[in-house]
Amino acid sequence: MLLAGAPPAASCTMQMHVPSLIEKKRDGQELTPDEIQFLIDGFTREEIPDYQMSAWAMAVFFREMTPAETRHLTEAMMNSGRVLKYPKDSPPKIDKHSTGGVGDKVSLVLAPLLACDEVWVPMISGRGLGITGGTLDKLESIPGFNVNLDEKRALKQLDKIGLFMIGQTSDICPADKKLYALRDVTGTVPSQPLIVASVMSKKLAENLDRLVLDVKFGRGAFMKTKKEAEQLAAAMTDVGERMKVKMSHLLSPMDEPLGRAVGNALEVAECVEILQGSGPNDLVKLIVDLAEKVSKTSRAQLEKRLKDGSAWRKFVSLVYAQDGDATTLEKILDFHRASIVRPWPAKSAGTVKKMDAELIGRAAVLLGAGRSTADDVIDFAVGFSGIKKVGERVEVDEALLSIHARDERSVHVASALLEKAVEVV
Ligand code: URA
Repeated sequence: MLLAGAPPAASCTMQMHVPSLIEKKRDGQELTPDEIQFLIDGFTREEIPDYQMSAWAMAVFFREMTPAETRHLTEAMMNSGRVLKYPKDSPPKIDKHSTGGVGDKVSLVLAPLLACDEVWVPMISGRGLGITGGTLDKLESIPGFNVNLDEKRALKQLDKIGLFMIGQTSDICPADKKLYALRDVTGTVPSQPLIVASVMSKKLAENLDRLVLDVKFGRGAFMKTKKEAEQLAAAMTDVGERMKVKMSHLLSPMDEPLGRAVGNALEVAECVEILQGSGPNDLVKLIVDLAEKVSKTSRAQLEKRLKDGSAWRKFVSLVYAQDGDATTLEKILDFHRASIVRPWPAKSAGTVKKMDAELIGRAAVLLGAGRSTADDVIDFAVGFSGIKKVGERVEVDEALLSIHARDERSVHVASALLEKAVEVV
């Protein structure tokens, strides 16, 4: 289809030639606000096909966007659906978003922790993207959990428990829902303007007062250097502040997986541990660091809420509110059990020097924990558990991690990547 032919949005009344817009970006020229609006409207209404939008995303990946283009893209994506409206005098609305990491399950703990205060946490998240896991996929490993609430139900839930965790819908950020899925399988994820627009369109559609960003850098992140992460944080902050959101951020390293588990149900199990007062130190610290940035509650009190069951009870109420079976939470690994759980032993004694998040993320996708094509169905049971942290001591034959897999072939493929991912000295 050369022309996207349906009635365009009110703000964009002309017809445009889609291949010319792709060529314009391919040749490094700046798109006008109307051109960006036209592409996003046409794509959202399924008048511009995936193959043209993929080509355009690849052109953006190579040619980037100016700050003005990035802003217009964000606004067009935010306005592809509804922006949430709240009753007058409702509590402050706060949220967090991560740019994506391996083993990054922070939202599942942070959202209920924040919602223990007199605030609302209207969290719109994404699925797995590239080698990074997604909050929605992890939540869906909880039997019955429904991430597709409509606006009316979501707002009612906010009023009742101060929290919802949903995905982009046909009502809220539909453009990101579609573009996100396309980027995931077309090698167009690590593009600063596309990340800014994806993250900020969702967060601005939440109509927030305060937002903290967890901007990752390193082997398992889309931004490989701290400098790139700083630039990404600055670009997102600029877009958010222009829309009157109080922005803060943390730059956090992602060279090794966060916590000790990678894989959807395995990560939910780790979150249950934290919500019940234990769990890996690196993860607990990051959760509290992020909470402090956006909460008015003291660090000591936030830590107490992880220990005394307050955040856990809030999470259980969230699971029930969204049709999940919270009785399965403490036995989620019985519910999703891979047929093979194989310890991966150290060949020599020493100290863990490297636990490469990128290769471990890739291995998790190959096991089935992420998607290689848009239609792939996630296997909630597979992944890695008991992952040793860099700096920890191991003895010969002690497990560096355990592989959870469906068959021997997958174990073999994962092991080949692990050989390169792990170093003990
Ligand atoms: N998180 C998102 O929502 N979008 C991205 O592009 C990356 C991380």
